[in-house]
Amino acid sequence: MGEYVTLWVDSKMDHSVIIVGAGPAGMFAAYELSRADIDVLVIEKGKDVNDRKEFEIMSGIGGAGTFSDGTVNLRPDIGGDLTEYTKDEDRAWGLVDHIREVLKKHGMPEPMRENPEKEEKLKRRAASVGSRYLPIIQSHIGSDKAPDLIKSFKEGLEKDGVKFRVNTEIEDLIIEDNRCTGVVSKSGKKYYGQYILLAPGRVGIDWVQRLTERYDLKANFAPIDIGVRVEVPSIIMDPVIDVNRDPKFHLYSKSYDDFVRTFCTNHQGFVVKENYDGFIGVNGHSRTDIKTENTNFAFLVKLKLTEPLEDTTRYGRAIAQLATTLGGGKPIVQRIGDLRDGRRSTRTRLSRNSVQPTLEDITPGDISMALPQRVMNDILEGLDMLNEIIPGVNSSNTLLYAPEIKFYAKKLLVDDNLETSIPHLFAAGDGAGLSHDIVNASATGVLAGRGIRRCMDR
Ligand SMILES: Cc1cc2nc3c(=O)[nH]c(=O)nc-3n(C[C@H](O)[C@H](O)[C@H](O)COP(=O)(O)OP(=O)(O)OC[C@H]3O[C@@H](n4cnc5c(N)ncnc54)[C@H](O)[C@@H]3O)c2cc1C
Repeated sequence: MGEYVTLWVDSKMDHSVIIVGAGPAGMFAAYELSRADIDVLVIEKGKDVNDRKEFEIMSGIGGAGTFSDGTVNLRPDIGGDLTEYTKDEDRAWGLVDHIREVLKKHGMPEPMRENPEKEEKLKRRAASVGSRYLPIIQSHIGSDKAPDLIKSFKEGLEKDGVKFRVNTEIEDLIIEDNRCTGVVSKSGKKYYGQYILLAPGRVGIDWVQRLTERYDLKANFAPIDIGVRVEVPSIIMDPVIDVNRDPKFHLYSKSYDDFVRTFCTNHQGFVVKENYDGFIGVNGHSRTDIKTENTNFAFLVKLKLTEPLEDTTRYGRAIAQLATTLGGGKPIVQRIGDLRDGRRSTRTRLSRNSVQPTLEDITPGDISMALPQRVMNDILEGLDMLNEIIPGVNSSNTLLYAPEIKFYAKKLLVDDNLETSIPHLFAAGDGAGLSHDIVNASATGVLAGRGIRRCMDR
């Protein structure tokens, strides 16, 4: 037991640290703290990992995606940017290595073998047109193995003294003397702790938003990703997929210098429609049992707003609603050739197109009437560049679906220890807007755990 913890004699304090949320962020924070013999309670609103049903995707021990394919992108700049917190690239990579070692101990397979020669070629080709190809060392946990990994991780934490309380939803914070001293569950039970860490993931975004309003917690709107889903014949993508099944290309558009990237490639997959509250969107997925002749990927422009409107979610919703209205409640699809010629796509033109859409519930139309001119410009310039790397991607027959929009949580303002504007209240992971994937969420958990330890030593 650390000295400070033994000295902390306050009858109200049940625990040294309370962590809300048992996803990667919460579990990695618990790992850092328990290694220093600090007493930790993790409170999770979902079920224990063995009791979770496959449809309980977002909640339970292990957090979101426990039943997913579990692709672990071993880079600090894919699901966020860890250098924002580490201020240094080597430290950011050090965090990724640390996470990789811990996950390996609990059964994560060795990362897939890289193909350095082919990657080098792709990198060079991308660099020659001013784009960046991001070689990623990836490990695939697999949906069958992920629950076992989580179980082993949790058992390890329990051996080190971490306590878990499942099926308990936290509803409020306890703020006393201008600092956070605990949390209150939905049933009204109070849990007191010297330090509190919020790690509630995507399912907790609205709750975090309510807390920011209730307690005037400082937060910024995150940038939004707006764009299209591109669908091409799979043979066009084969040479790149051979190097990486989810290739990431980053570039800056010529006219506006906006950041544009490829994301979520589905080789021989399907474009899918997503229904939201008040609008529709597109996404993509691939299946192991059914393959198509097409490959799709998201092509997204990152936009940040300043004044008078900082709220990127409102902006994104307005665009998505306009696209939904224009498409008659269905995603709009357009051939690049039609877009370039300034005309809408029609069912007739689509029927004789060499690329046939894998999504049937669509409206052939004109996406330039739905997406802002700036976004359209960025996409067309970006596709020109991408065509130099992946010849054929920019053909007249390529299909563009809209709207593809990625909304992110409001980002809580945190210091180097990941402490929020309320003393003793820390934040980590997707729910606080600090990450978007397993590795980045885990890394922010590690940073918050270390930050709490530093504050205890103060
Ligand atoms: C279907 C799916 C597939 C994915 N696949 C991948 C992938 O292959 N690779 C990848 O890198 N990322 C993937 N992701 C994203 C990844 O899962 C998340 O980025 C990551 O889990 C975020 O970790 P987190 O700890 O911040 O939050 P989460 O994992 O969301 O965990 C937060 C936990 O907090 C709990 N919680 C929320 N509110 C409360 C409350 N009020 N009281 C108590 N508990 C609360 C939730 O129940 C949840 O269990 C996927 C996500 C989904 C949904």
